[in-house]
Amino acid sequence: MQIRYPIEITIKTYIEQRAWQQVELKQCPFHPDGGCGLSRHGTYPRKIPDDCLVARWYCPDQRETISLLPDFFASRLPGTLDEVEQAVNIADASSSQEEAAERVRPDIELPGGLRWLRRRIKYVREALTILAGLLVNECSPDLQSFHEKYNTDCVLTKMRDIAEEHLHALPRIVGFGPRSDGRYCHLSTSNN
Ligand SMILES: [Zn+2]
Repeated sequence: MQIRYPIEITIKTYIEQRAWQQVELKQCPFHPDGGCGLSRHGTYPRKIPDDCLVARWYCPDQRETISLLPDFFASRLPGTLDEVEQAVNIADASSSQEEAAERVRPDIELPGGLRWLRRRIKYVREALTILAGLLVNECSPDLQSFHEKYNTDCVLTKMRDIAEEHLHALPRIVGFGPRSDGRYCHLSTSNN
């Protein structure tokens, strides 16, 4: 499982300080009273950037690893939440998704860039739709509405903190809940 590593430093500082070596997991999320033999279980590398590691523990009673994901990282998607947010903001400000895809992924062909961008638009829409319901914040499920409500340019990263108690129920890329099984895709497509 993944749990939150609340951290205010940037990804650059995280790498420079090798912060994954310093973080401590104070108690097992499955056994808060201890006694389960929780121990460090090395690290695993993030795909992007490739010199960045995430600290991991292992609970032998639960037979599960527990990794501490820093707030700036998207969950179950390469890269950071800020990168996703910037891409979706560019899409919102562009006259077409094709134009936005060429701007955010000039390094790949358009069809691949569009898939890359649309996945991120979908994940953000799903997360904000569920967050608006859980937080009862009267926001519409778009970054601009959350940006105004919470007065931040880093909406998705901020949500890790604001919605901390709901992270287990939220799908990627903000939450650590179960993988979205596709039903949300149908919902969001039919609502478009
Ligand atoms: Zn345990």
